Parts: sequence; structure tokens; C-alpha cells
Amino acid sequence: MVNVTVCVRFRPLNLSEKRLHGDSICIQALNTQSFTFKDEKEEDITFCFDRVFYQDSEQVEVYDFLAMPIIEGAVNAINGTIIAYGQTGAGKTYSMEGLGVLDGDRKKKGLLPRVVDGIFEFLQSLVEMTKWTVKLSMVEIYMDKIRDLFDLSKDNIQIKENKCQGIFLLGATEIPITNSTEALRCLCHGIANRAVGETQMNLASSRSHCVYIFSVQQESRTDGRSKTGKIVLVDLAGSEKADRTGAGGIVLEEAKSINKSLSALGNVINALTAGKLNHIPYRDSKLTRILQDALGGNSRTALLCCCSPSPSNVSESLSTLRAKLLKSSP
Ligand code: ADP
Ligand code: MG
Repeated sequence: MVNVTVCVRFRPLNLSEKRLHGDSICIQALNTQSFTFKDEKEEDITFCFDRVFYQDSEQVEVYDFLAMPIIEGAVNAINGTIIAYGQTGAGKTYSMEGLGVLDGDRKKKGLLPRVVDGIFEFLQSLVEMTKWTVKLSMVEIYMDKIRDLFDLSKDNIQIKENKCQGIFLLGATEIPITNSTEALRCLCHGIANRAVGETQMNLASSRSHCVYIFSVQQESRTDGRSKTGKIVLVDLAGSEKADRTGAGGIVLEEAKSINKSLSALGNVINALTAGKLNHIPYRDSKLTRILQDALGGNSRTALLCCCSPSPSNVSESLSTLRAKLLKSSP
């Protein structure tokens, strides 16, 4: 049974959008699952999703709806994935990290710090029954190459698979974490490393995928049996089309690589939701290969499509809402 939840989040208008169009927006809420969208020809299109988060939505609402079931699953050895998709500036990183992962305004904390808290809360409630270990890895995929964000010298990590571990990243740093504070410190370290690497190589974070992998291992205190669940969070590269007029060389190569991995992801999700379970094209990109055992099978997947509500971004928002990735929506 393939389990994919598809949600949309509209961020508030930003200053430059307000300067251009005042307070006008191109969407009208119908309810928590649907809205109408005014396209460039002023025609209304109705969209339905599992859940729509409007401009005034709080981080905690997104967490409760999307992440809670995935954490619950992981503690029961069901892998899960949360993916943020959308054009650059649409709110992916805000939704994933939030503002001030470590010490920011509690209300503005995104999914990652909340997932960390959630994992330890769940595990704490099981402490009499199981001994547990939580490990965190953080990698970045750029031009189909995987870089360890806890050790920037490891810049071409290979993906392997075996019976016991499933899919894993050969040699990637896995930091054991025993509580939220430690986990947040590691996350901040990885995020800071990502920025350092980008400055060194003159990259923009919006051109790479950032992948956070929590592995939750438990060993029963009664019969010694063990089980592992994984939670993977992915802050995807911006889905916007490269501006072909000015783009050449590396920019075009980047765009092709992003496009290829995003369409590979779309193909995998479509194959899964269409029930074509005998051939899922996981091997078409590093991104889908990393996600293989946390996407499909009996795992749980949540997609968060981030959009601007501004008339200035109509065409990008429409292409986000219509992405092949989302064909699974009801
Ligand atoms: P992306 O990661 O998709 O490129 P960001 O998450 O960096 O986009 O968001 C772009 C800007 O909009 C940031 O300044 C961010 O703080 C702000 N923003 C995004 N979503 C929200 C939101 N839901 N509420 C408030 N500010 C937001
Ligand atoms: Mg971002």
C-alpha cells in the first residue's frame, strides 16, 4: 500500500511582491483542501490537495499534519520521507528549518527541530520497553554528486544496499544523538557547513538538494529483538526553469541536473501511486536512489509544495501545482 500525502503551503507576500501588486493575491481559499487559482488569463482553476496551508498557517500546523504520522511510523520501523518542493523563495527552507533552528522564536521553528523533539518524546515514552539509538546524517546532492555535510572532505559518497541496512551511504558520517539539544547542535553544524562549502565553491543552496536522514534503532528489553525506522527530510533544489537567455555553461548544467533529478522523483512517485510496483525507476538519479527504501514499500511519504500567492509568480506557482510529482493528489 503506497502512502503519499500531498500538501501545498502558500507563504505570506514579501515586500517586493507588495511593492508590485499591493495586497493582491492569485488564490482564493475554498477550504482546508481546495482553493481557486487565477491564472495569467484571469481564469479560475480549482485545485484540491490532502491539505492546503494558507499564508497565515503556523509551523506547528504543518508539523502536526505532515510529520507526526511519519515519526509515529519510524518508531514502529516504518520508514518515512518528507519532501519540500517549489521554486526558490517559495518557503521550502522556512518550512523545513524555520528561523533559528537552535535558539530562534519557538513559533517559527520548522519541521526539523520539531521532528527531533517528536522523535525523542516518542522514544521517551517507550524507554521501559526498548533501548534506542538515534543517528543523524546530512548530505547535499549537487550535480548528482553526494557530499557529506558533517565532513566536507567526503564529496563523492556512494549509495550502497545490503540486506541488513537496506539503502545506505557508504562512509557518510552518522552522528549518534541522545537528546534534542544535541540533535539541534548537529543540524546547525551541518547547515553552517553547507554554507561554507557553498561559499568555497561559489554555489547557491537553492541549486542543490539537502537530505537529512534520521535513523531510529530500537532493541526490545524483553526479547532483545531490534528494529530500525528511518525518517528522511529533503529540501529540494529550486524547481524554477533556468533562464535560458543568460544561462550557459555551469548554470545550464546545474539546471539540467536538477531537472533530471526532479523528474526522476516525479516518475518514482507516479509509478508508486499508479501501483506499478514491479518497476519503480529508483536508479535514475542519486536522489531517488537515496530515498528508495523510505519511498514506496510500506513507507510513508509527505510532499509539501511551497508557493508564493503573488500575481507576480503565477507561472512558477502554476507549474509547481501542476508538477508531475503531484499527480498523486486526489
Ligand atoms: P526557499 O527555501 O523555497 O528558497 P525560503 O524558505 O528561503 O525559500 O523563503 C524565502 C523567504 O520567505 C525567507 O525570507 C523566509 O523567511 C520567508 N518565508 C517563507 N515562508 C514563510 C512563511 N510561511 N512565513 C513567513 N515567512 C516565510
Ligand atoms: Mg531554500
